[in-house]
Amino acid sequence: MKKILVTGGTGFIGSHVVVQLLNKNYQVFVLDNLSNSKKIVLEKIRKITGKLPNFIEGDIRNINLINQIFNENIFEGLMHFAALKSLSDSEINAEKYYDNNVVGSNNLLDIAVKKNIKKIIFSSSAAVYGNQKSAKVVETMLLDPITNYGKNKLLIEKKIQKFQTESKNISFVIFRYFNAVGAHPSGIIGEDIRETTSNLMPLVSKTAFGQIKKLTIFGNDYPTKDGTGLRDYIHVEDLAAAHIKGLEFFPKNKNISTFNLGVGKAYSVLDVVKTFELVSKRKIPYEFSKKRPGDLAECYADPFLANSDLQWKAKLNLEDICRDVWNFQIKNPIGYE
Ligand code: NAD
Ligand code: UDP
Repeated sequence: MKKILVTGGTGFIGSHVVVQLLNKNYQVFVLDNLSNSKKIVLEKIRKITGKLPNFIEGDIRNINLINQIFNENIFEGLMHFAALKSLSDSEINAEKYYDNNVVGSNNLLDIAVKKNIKKIIFSSSAAVYGNQKSAKVVETMLLDPITNYGKNKLLIEKKIQKFQTESKNISFVIFRYFNAVGAHPSGIIGEDIRETTSNLMPLVSKTAFGQIKKLTIFGNDYPTKDGTGLRDYIHVEDLAAAHIKGLEFFPKNKNISTFNLGVGKAYSVLDVVKTFELVSKRKIPYEFSKKRPGDLAECYADPFLANSDLQWKAKLNLEDICRDVWNFQIKNPIGYE
């Protein structure tokens, strides 16, 4: 069986990818420090797949541990999800984010490259684009991230490019995710929401469920169809499927490939609210407030490259997303506790 190391594998996106890897008969090793996830996810993965991934509780910044993991195993590939992900928190705690995300990735990737891991997939973000003239973003655009989180992702992308110029034997796939949402259709795994979340979809879901009285919509005077912000919401199951395609893509292509992973359509905050109301049959009270600093009016992917080179296309739409988030909400009213 081919071994894959998944950092951040008990997290939201990582856990959905682990399920698909196990279903494809890969032997999965999860490395996670549980700073933003819980061990119980492993049992939930077993409930879905009938298999338990190998689990190593630890930090990507721990050089001795990473060396030990690579000394003890020959991996077919590495999927690197582990990171802190709050855009606003990255502004307040810049050093913590740099240390965890950049220093951590440097440690991990340095060792993985030394150990000759042939296939490395890195989770980057649409946040690397920042302000662009066009709302529809293409991989080849000049990058201009606004947040520390986006700047850190760009530093890691650049580090990967440097590896590539130094060693032709290693292949990297960089995935730039758009707004990752949704949940496994079973409702067993999904996004285990923290009190501090500031993302739209979990807040919409909690408002529909009655855990939050009113949703705050940031801005109703953007130059968009209904005045609210437009984003590309992509189902986590579609994202996970792209990672499997990403692994299969390597043998033919030995270089760095960077792909947008988005649906290629922009939905407004009000589109999300209305679709969620329709699916949940609940009313979602909301009020408008000022724009959130740093928010773009509109941003969505040009997914052409992933569609053509990876033969991957998002299959699930906003209604599917809202249905699966609602199913997860009902089955896990207080998250994974
Ligand atoms: P998540 O927080 O649910 O998962 C990340 C996991 O990494 C967590 O389980 C956490 O405990 C672990 N982790 C964090 N720092 C670590 C460290 N130093 N050592 C070991 N483990 C560590 O986040 P997610 O939504 O699943 O995101 C996965 C990846 O995708 C991240 O790199 C994130 O930046 C990127 N991303 C996410 C989105 C999104 O919308 N969720 C969008 C773009 C990019
Ligand atoms: N948003 C909102 N209210 C909230 C959270 C988000 O109106 O409580 C809007 C936000 O301004 C943006 C969209 O919803 O237009 C998506 O925001 P999110 O934080 O989920 O993702 P982002 O694209 O900012 O990373």
